[in-house]
Amino acid sequence: MKKIKYIEEIFKLLTQELNKYNQPVVSRTKQGIKNTPFTTLISCILSLRTKDEVTEQASKRLLKKHNTPEKILILSTQQIESLIYPVGFYKTKAKRIKDVAKNLIKNYSGNVPDDFNELLKLKGVGRKTANIVMVYGHKKYGYLPIDVHCHRIPNRLGWIKTKTPEETEEELKKILPEKYWNDFNDLFVTFGQKICVPVSPFCSKCPIEKYCKKISVEKSR
Ligand code: SF4
Repeated sequence: MKKIKYIEEIFKLLTQELNKYNQPVVSRTKQGIKNTPFTTLISCILSLRTKDEVTEQASKRLLKKHNTPEKILILSTQQIESLIYPVGFYKTKAKRIKDVAKNLIKNYSGNVPDDFNELLKLKGVGRKTANIVMVYGHKKYGYLPIDVHCHRIPNRLGWIKTKTPEETEEELKKILPEKYWNDFNDLFVTFGQKICVPVSPFCSKCPIEKYCKKISVEKSR
């Protein structure tokens, strides 16, 4: 299987360009919150379909004082709702956070499992969240979290031709050398938020334009 051409240069250029921006909310250290597998997991649940700034504030309100499953269970679902509002689907997420906390206490002695398949057994935890917890919570290597940006951009670049993030994870693992996996999510989420945006990307200020095939890009700036 062929590896991606010029990958070293591409990562170098993206890192240089994106250093001026904040890291994505699930991986960056949030003031006042201890970075643990549990706080990573809860921030990730909060971040689904929610803007980074909103996720960050909600994570701080909830996790500053309630950073373990036991401390979450002291709260009623309504209290969690008001702490995390206005994240998207805050009612569903409040219930889910309580369920996850209960499940962790009952089945994992209050710890977040460092086993990918065990993480997938938690209600509301899909491959993206499980990969994020493994990489940013447990600091493990060999995982590749894929969100909408990490799915869209490699397809635009012409590296892969896939229809779903799951397929992208599988195909990218074959052609992206493993030493890049841990940085890939941070880099491509920020790149997708700031430059290679979903509609009309900023190709004129893209540091890797000469390496891009612009597949399915109909309009750019
Ligand atoms: S050239 Fe345009 S489409 Fe290609 S990676 Fe850069 S911003 Fe995205």
